[in-house]
This record gives sequence, structure tokens and C-alpha cells, in this order.
Amino acid sequence: MTEKTDLKNFPLPALELFLKGKGKERFRAIQIFKWIYQHGAGGFEEMTNISKDLRLELAETACISNLHAETVEEGSDGTRKYLFSLGDGSAVESVMIPDEGRATLCISSQVGCAMACEFCLTGNFRLTRNLTTAEIVNQIMAVRRDVEIRNIVFMGMGEPLHNLDNVIPAIQIMLDGNGLQLSNRRVTVSTCGLVPEMARLGREIPNVNLAVSLNATTDELRDRIMPVNRTYPLKALMKACKVFPLPGRRKVTFEYVMIGGINDSLEDAKRLLRLTSDVPNKVNLIPFNEHEGCGFKAPTRAAIDDFHKYLIDRNVTVITRDSRGGDISAACGQLKGKLEKRKTIETRSNGATE
Ligand code: SAH
Repeated sequence: MTEKTDLKNFPLPALELFLKGKGKERFRAIQIFKWIYQHGAGGFEEMTNISKDLRLELAETACISNLHAETVEEGSDGTRKYLFSLGDGSAVESVMIPDEGRATLCISSQVGCAMACEFCLTGNFRLTRNLTTAEIVNQIMAVRRDVEIRNIVFMGMGEPLHNLDNVIPAIQIMLDGNGLQLSNRRVTVSTCGLVPEMARLGREIPNVNLAVSLNATTDELRDRIMPVNRTYPLKALMKACKVFPLPGRRKVTFEYVMIGGINDSLEDAKRLLRLTSDVPNKVNLIPFNEHEGCGFKAPTRAAIDDFHKYLIDRNVTVITRDSRGGDISAACGQLKGKLEKRKTIETRSNGATE
């Protein structure tokens, strides 16, 4: 039997094409799209404004996938970490950060990551595989059943620009007025700095927010802690930020993970200011979250405050990100898909009884 086509991999134009191939009218695609994303339909039988014949025909060749959380952990600050099992043994995490009914969901784009940033836990796990478009949007669909989601940030596991073929259609579904109906100012793609892919994202989805994980102000240090810099050094990265198409007053976000004694001095702050002066921007300072097996340390409170003040005093928009979800390992760079660990243990114990 051939595998059924998962309709959640299709943005609306692709769904229209799929239905056209079956001789169906265009408006059917809009109806089905709305059923999937606005009513959260999990099967064709629910689609009551579609003829029974068409529903049966679709059910034979197509399906509507779903994700169910394997575990949900809630932190003392209301942050929730969802662990999703993907059916092939791998797992990804999403983090819901509440904010008075305007929750932000931090979603994953890959299982693991190939970018190998020295300070990042996900990077230690290497890339297992890309998430499909369906798996990306299903993280939102699943969490939305619990809480209304206002903002989406691609800051979970993986490098979204390393999986653009699936990330772009996922964003199209998010922004579609017949789909998830999110505003482009509420979707942020975060990258370690894949320069050609930044240009492609800007071409294909202009106006989506861009965040760039800068984390170092010299090529020497960035080469070391973010290997991507050896291919796309700071000069090329800054140029790509400068030409990224953003509407009017919108700014690029520079994320800067502050690592104690590595990149947290006032000299770094000074260089950061100089480096980014050409790009309308805001800066997110993220105190490094310590994790096992990584020798880096969090910066001191004083180092964070001095760095922050240096930039604020020079009219930079700066936010120092508090470590939301710290008590449930849901903070930046701490996601890794714990299920894999558990699976390994289960496999081992199975082995022992055989
Ligand atoms: N690959 C993308 C998105 C995932 S990482 C990117 O690089 O932007 C999301 C953010 O978490 C990045 O800014 C990254 O620099 C940061 N980060 C990774 N590990 C961290 C850690 N241990 N402590 C604090 N921030 C971390």
C-alpha cells in the first residue's frame, strides 16, 4: 500500500494543486485548509460541508497528522515544556512561555542540529533529521489546544535556515488568512548565520522577523564557538542582516549569549555596538545557561548589568532575557529531546531480559 499524503505538509497553493490533480475545485482546498487549521479537524469525517463522496475519496489517499505530547512539564513561572514523540523514535521539544494571554511558543525545526555551536546542548547531539512541515506546524496545533498562541519563535532545537524547504511552507501555513492566521510581525526565525539562506528567506517570506545569534564580536572567537562563522564570517553576516527585507521600523534582533569570562567584557560590548551600527537592531542578552558537559560558565550579575548599561546608554534597545523555564530545563539552548535518553534506557533494559 502506498503511504497516504499528509495534508499538513501543504501550504494552501500546494493543497489546491493536490486537489486539482483529483479534478476538484479550488474552493475545496480553502474549505479543507480551514477545517484543518481553524477547526483543528483530525479527520475528513468532521468536514461536514464537504460531500461524503469526496470525504471518502480523500480518506483513501490522504491523512491529517497530529502530534500528542508525550510529557508536559510546567515550571514555577508557568513556562511549559512539551516533549513530542515523532513516531520514528526521535523526539522534539517546544516551549510555551505565557504572558497574560499572549503566549509565545518556541518551536523546533530539526531533531538535533548540525551547527555544533560549542555552548549549545542541542548542538552536542548532531543532526538526526529535519522536521517535516507537518511536524513543525503540529507543534503549534498541539499546544494551541491548551493555550492561545500569539507569537512563534524558531528558537527551539535545530537551525531553521538549514531546513528551509520545510520551514518556508510551515511559515506560509502560519501566516495564511485561511490557516493559522498569525501576523508576520509575530513570527520570528532565529539563525546562527547561514548567509545564503538568509537571503532566500527574505526573498520567499519578506517581512518575517529575523533574529541572529551573534554571540561573539570577533571572527576569532566566533570561529571557535560557532563553526558556521568559518564559512560566513562577521562581515558577510552583517551585510546579510543589512539587506534583509524588513518593513519600516522593524529591527533585526541580535541574540547575544553572555558567557562568563569569554564574551562578557565591556570591550565586547563596545565591539558589539560598532559591529551592528549599520543595521537597525535590538539586542537580546541571554545569560548562558549552564549544562552538564560544557565547561562554560554563566556571567556574573555585574557583568550582565554593565554590558546592558553600556548599550542602553548608547541608545541601543536592549532586553536581558530572564531564564524563563530554568527549573524545567526549558531555557534557551537546553532542549534536547529527553525521550531519546529514556528510549536508550528502555532498550538496554529490554536487552537485559531477552
Ligand atoms: N539555531 C538557531 C535557533 C536555536 S538556538 C540559532 O542559532 O539562532 C536559540 C538561541 O539559544 C540562540 O540564540 C542560541 O545562541 C541560544 N543558546 C544556545 N545554547 C545556549 C545556552 N546554553 N545558554 C543560553 N543560550 C543558549
